[in-house]
Amino acid sequence: MPPNRYWTRSALPLGPWPEPAAFELREDPVPEPGPGQALTRTIYISLDPYQWGYKKRGVEAPGAPCHARTVAQVIESRMEGGGGGGGGVLGLTAYAGMILQGDPKPGETAVVSAASGGVGQIAGQLARLRGARVVGIAGVEKKCRFVVEELGFNACVSHLSPTFAADLKAVAPAGVDVYFENVGGAVFDAVLPLFNKGARMTICGLIAHYGDEEGQDARADLMKRGEAIFRERGVTVRDLFVGDFVEGHHEAFLTEMSAWVAAGDVRYLEDIREGLETVPAAFAEMLRGGNFGKMLVRVGEDPTL
Ligand code: NDP
Repeated sequence: MPPNRYWTRSALPLGPWPEPAAFELREDPVPEPGPGQALTRTIYISLDPYQWGYKKRGVEAPGAPCHARTVAQVIESRMEGGGGGGGGVLGLTAYAGMILQGDPKPGETAVVSAASGGVGQIAGQLARLRGARVVGIAGVEKKCRFVVEELGFNACVSHLSPTFAADLKAVAPAGVDVYFENVGGAVFDAVLPLFNKGARMTICGLIAHYGDEEGQDARADLMKRGEAIFRERGVTVRDLFVGDFVEGHHEAFLTEMSAWVAAGDVRYLEDIREGLETVPAAFAEMLRGGNFGKMLVRVGEDPTL
């Protein structure tokens, strides 16, 4: 059997953003599964922004295997009754933040940042299904074109444009009723003056700040910048942690989302890189916008293809 190969966090100090030296590839003999364990063959590795937080906050000690969600095939199991199964964490994040928290109504305007990414592309489509006018915010032009032409957003503007704030205002002439925040920073600052009375904002993530120095509190800064407008216009701001929605909402999510996907009402784009060696570069690229869709790395043969 080939060895078990995996990335670890290296012992070197971390910079603000991932660099190749932050990772070390190791290999060990494949272990035998003990009681209550299963041996699996990894097919896809999911690369997600939270993994950088795990390294920076020391959740992963140097030398420990890097944490990742995977799609894997069970080779041998000594588990009783199967192992559960996750099923669409990003989809559930979008569902919780847009449907359960944002609750867009027909005719309202919903704005989604990082609109073509794993979470954003789904959140925007859910707002569209609720009958809202959907405005995306994304980086390069092909991402903006994709969410409008392929996913049915009403408009999308680029945060890279020197006229970004004015562009956003122009495509949200009736103001913003629901904002699904994935980014923070200058993107939040452009949305802030457009909030309508009674608007809802979900803080799903603040990726622009994941390279901040220790001690900086991006959420507190954002709340301070928004304080006056939130108060004057009665804007409700909610934090989102997908783990809070697994119990109680996962079943309903799976039923509804499966039907939408089967009917073609919700579509998704994946950015799939090939081979375990590509992980550090793909991860760094994703954090700075180099991904086009949900970032995955294929490390083994996919029997469903
Ligand atoms: P994405 O697929 O959206 O990839 C990240 C994207 O963020 C990049 O492609 C880039 O898109 C955008 N981005 C990065 N830096 C900046 C910046 N400085 N300014 C503007 N945009 C930037 O990742 P995910 O879908 O996996 O995650 C999206 C968000 O959801 C993250 O904030 C993540 O932490 C959060 N999340 C939260 C969860 C929760 O429970 N609350 C669960 C899962 C994810 P572009 O090129 O368009 O700028």
